[in-house]
Amino acid sequence: MISDNKETKICKKCGRELPLERFRLSSANGVKYYRGACRECEALYDKEYSRKKMEKEFTFSDTMKFHITREYKEISPERILDIDALNIIPYGIDEIFVKLMDYKDTWLSNYGRCITKAWNKYSLLDGSYINGELRYSLRKNVFCDGKWIYKHDYVCAPKMVVESRYVLYYSKRKADQGGFVA
Ligand SMILES: [Zn+2]
Repeated sequence: MISDNKETKICKKCGRELPLERFRLSSANGVKYYRGACRECEALYDKEYSRKKMEKEFTFSDTMKFHITREYKEISPERILDIDALNIIPYGIDEIFVKLMDYKDTWLSNYGRCITKAWNKYSLLDGSYINGELRYSLRKNVFCDGKWIYKHDYVCAPKMVVESRYVLYYSKRKADQGGFVA
């Protein structure tokens, strides 16, 4: 309807007619042009891309590649650490630190970062890379010789992120959904 107006362009992703400044300016061979998708659509795509990439990196070993349905675990708000007060800058607006149940004063983020509390001070942990995989040395609460104690435990960050964020349903769940007939 307002396509005669040279100041607008139709986004090829969402189909909206938007002012030119809502598109990023690119150049090829010295020729400047506005990109086909609007900034919002590009941002959405980037987000989706990094989410997929992260999920791919966080898949389990080959032996565990059977039917897995992932669903987000409901995380109770008390488990989420308020980092605004801690001088810790989030990686992204969606980064949250969730308290790990079996570890002493430890919070893990969906980006694989880890915060621990010691002497009333919260700090980001430095992990170490072993075979290209980020690991943290954490204190795990274990039951040993009739009492609960803390033991050092090496935790693989990507695996832990998946475990703390998702409930994993295996093939049994598929059967429940009618996927398999017993
Ligand atoms: Zn768009």
